[in-house]
Amino acid sequence: MKVFKFGGASVKNADAIRNLSKIVANNNDQKVIVISALDKTTNHLESVFNHYLAGNNLMWSEFQSIKDFHFKIIDDLFEGNSDEAKTLVSVIFNQLEEKLKVASSGHYEYEYDQIISFGELFSTRIVSLFLNYLNVQNVWVDIRTVLKTDDNYKSAELDEELSKLHVGVKFNFNGVSNYITQGFIASTSFGTTTTFGREGSDYTASILGSLLNAESVTIWKDVPGVLNADPKLFQNTIVLPKIPYREAVELAYSGAKVIHPKTIKPLHNSNIPLFVKSFVDPSLPGTIISHEDTFIDSPVIIVKENQVLLSILPKDISFVIDDRLIEIISILEKYKIKSNIIQSSAVNFTVCVDSSYRLEELINEFSSHYKVLYNDNLTLFTIRHYDEQTISRELQGKTILLEQRTRSTARFVLK
Ligand code: ASP
Repeated sequence: MKVFKFGGASVKNADAIRNLSKIVANNNDQKVIVISALDKTTNHLESVFNHYLAGNNLMWSEFQSIKDFHFKIIDDLFEGNSDEAKTLVSVIFNQLEEKLKVASSGHYEYEYDQIISFGELFSTRIVSLFLNYLNVQNVWVDIRTVLKTDDNYKSAELDEELSKLHVGVKFNFNGVSNYITQGFIASTSFGTTTTFGREGSDYTASILGSLLNAESVTIWKDVPGVLNADPKLFQNTIVLPKIPYREAVELAYSGAKVIHPKTIKPLHNSNIPLFVKSFVDPSLPGTIISHEDTFIDSPVIIVKENQVLLSILPKDISFVIDDRLIEIISILEKYKIKSNIIQSSAVNFTVCVDSSYRLEELINEFSSHYKVLYNDNLTLFTIRHYDEQTISRELQGKTILLEQRTRSTARFVLK
């Protein structure tokens, strides 16, 4: 069996869903198909959530526009026969509506997951019903009954043992060719909804691939494979036909948006190849990520926006070693702030991090023992397999706040 994953862009409107259905119907393998929320629904649900937390009635107009968007797609897909699909999808919208009527518990991460998770429930229901309508046999699975996690809401950790018990039972392929299920969401052992963090559907596909010992996992994208740079920012990009797992992790971690950083490990450990293919032209070969130790000979550029550069200096000028170092790292960890580059000197710890809503709290916590300096709105520019020519061409005229080079990677924090 194979695992296919379709992201928001591949289900952004009725035409996209028709295209997805064609890809599914034209493939005769047994498949588990993991799907994200339609288009930017997760962002819109975040806005519902923010209004909900603020106790602001604006959440209802946002809720209605999400519902209208989904129903318009249903009308387009099912032409004159949309009543049944609308009734079934309404059941899920009603669940969200009921949730929004109850005041927030004040637990930010918990409430976030309870609301944001609906996007994938809507999308998978619609796609499954549409495949039925086209006579493409499939079974819809609520992945929360399969993938079990801890209660670290918004960034849940998989309980592999427990999930393993459910996965073979739910996806047994007895008379079934295709299962349709949600990316991104899961649940605790008590059944409370959790999520793996934004863009987490790739990770879902990779966990399922690994737990089911799939022949391969394919992520269908709007690009022809993994490119050597983001085509929205650079011209003349090329597809990297083969990438070793380790390289793929480096690219994803540096901010290459094509794959979620957590996706590779489960596949590496189970030796399952990952294909990144174009849903626009499925005949293109795409990229294969596997154990094969391929040499990448052209520079790969990754741009990560919304970075903050923090310099943390002990007020009593203690050296940043041992206990001080552990303390700084633990505080960053406590606020779930991801460090992208670390550089330290005798009495200065500098770290480039993703911007976060908890940054102010973090800086406050540091301020009792440390002086904290920071710059925000920065860009992290990474060049894997760099050469001097690429560095001078790309960084011309830019202000560099921090620079770090290893044998294979040059990284710059730019203003
Ligand atoms: N829908 C979620 C998001 O937009 C998960 C995903 O698409 O991977 O972050």
